[in-house]
Amino acid sequence: MLISDFGGVLTTPLAESFMAVQDEVGIPPRVFGMALADLTEKTGLNPLFELEMGKISEAVFSERLADGLEPHLGHRPVIEKFGEVFFEALHPNQGMIDLIREVRRDGLRTAMLTNNVREWEPLWRQMLPVDELFEEVVDSGFVGVRKPDPKIYELTLGRVDLAPQACIFVDDLEINCEAASDLGMHAVHFRETAQVRSEVHELLASHNAG
Ligand SMILES: [Mg+2]
Repeated sequence: MLISDFGGVLTTPLAESFMAVQDEVGIPPRVFGMALADLTEKTGLNPLFELEMGKISEAVFSERLADGLEPHLGHRPVIEKFGEVFFEALHPNQGMIDLIREVRRDGLRTAMLTNNVREWEPLWRQMLPVDELFEEVVDSGFVGVRKPDPKIYELTLGRVDLAPQACIFVDDLEINCEAASDLGMHAVHFRETAQVRSEVHELLASHNAG
């Protein structure tokens, strides 16, 4: 089975979307990250991670982020439509969508494993034919655990009833790939579509040969 991440793999890079949000709210470069780091230090919880695990709503996240940004900006920013602005700057990566279709046509099973936000589900589902491409979707916002926690990989393997060794995992974050490798999956670190295409085909060929 091929298990794919969503953001930054099936889409254009997320950095462009974070920049779009920063432009919209009027946040200078690096301040967004500094605000999140301050909040994490103060509470022991990263609000972005809490959001991705469905522990807080997008509205609460926006308020916490405003709290963290206020000392850096000297005023309290109004953060509205974070998700909408974020997704406006995000586009499907057609090359990866084509690869998913190809491997499915060749008989490989496919699933998606994403760190995401509950409120954003309608936004990402609009971007690609999810139900055509994947038999299973595991979304951190709904299962309450996020990559790189091994629990979310184990939950995914349980749902598709496969051993980790039977799965190729593709993600643009190295830390998520390392967690998959530690469990015994064949991890492919996404850097560009052509590289993933060739690594996936190599893995499939060696698997068939073996
Ligand atoms: Mg990603």
